[in-house]
Amino acid sequence: ASFEDIQLGPALLANVKRCKYTKPTPVQRYSIPIGLAGRDLMACAQTGSGKTAAFCFPIIANILNSGGEPSGRNRKAFPSALVLSPTRELSSQIYDEARKFTYQTGLRCVVVYGGAPVVNQLRDMERGCDILVATPGRLSDLIERARVSLSRVRYLALDEADRMLDMGFEPQIRRIVEGEDMPRVGERQTLLFSATFPKEIQRLAADFLSNYIFLAV
Ligand code: AMP
Repeated sequence: ASFEDIQLGPALLANVKRCKYTKPTPVQRYSIPIGLAGRDLMACAQTGSGKTAAFCFPIIANILNSGGEPSGRNRKAFPSALVLSPTRELSSQIYDEARKFTYQTGLRCVVVYGGAPVVNQLRDMERGCDILVATPGRLSDLIERARVSLSRVRYLALDEADRMLDMGFEPQIRRIVEGEDMPRVGERQTLLFSATFPKEIQRLAADFLSNYIFLAV
């Protein structure tokens, strides 16, 4: 199997080649077609498995295929994709990869996390925000300040969900995902990634996903 065999579209495929990815990793091989088909997904995948691309590729391809206009400048951000991740480090890594994958697509990626000045992040968001990578705490803050609306989120990814729960983020995550603003299950596509699949994650999957495919690689 190669990336050419997966319907990524020309722009994304060119970026994949630019990244020198030649062959999909196992989690990519299975997750990407599921994601492209619009299905919700619960994937058990470890760090280093290539999971970032496994959720980024279908999100980017689906946004480009849906023909939506990239969001322009706006004081308030209306991302079409939201990626939640536990830490500043992981969020930055996801953002760096997402930037490479969206090169020359017109889609704008922004990352927000705690422990860094909010002004710079607000300025980044104002320039346009299609794919927002965020830690739950800082995102909650920006929602409260009315600088982000989740009303146009069509694609939601949660990365290292077990770690987010270990860090005590469940209340924030639930407020974000089950909040009034967020499109309901079935009106959005949700990709949940976790290294482990304990009871708490199973409950999250039951609440956040609809008719989902379970993948363990
Ligand atoms: P991740 O598990 O997403 O953190 O990815 C681990 C590392 O593998 C990152 O440095 C990626 O850039 C790299 N990587 C992911 N997928 C591939 C691939 N298909 N071919 C080569 N390298 C990859």
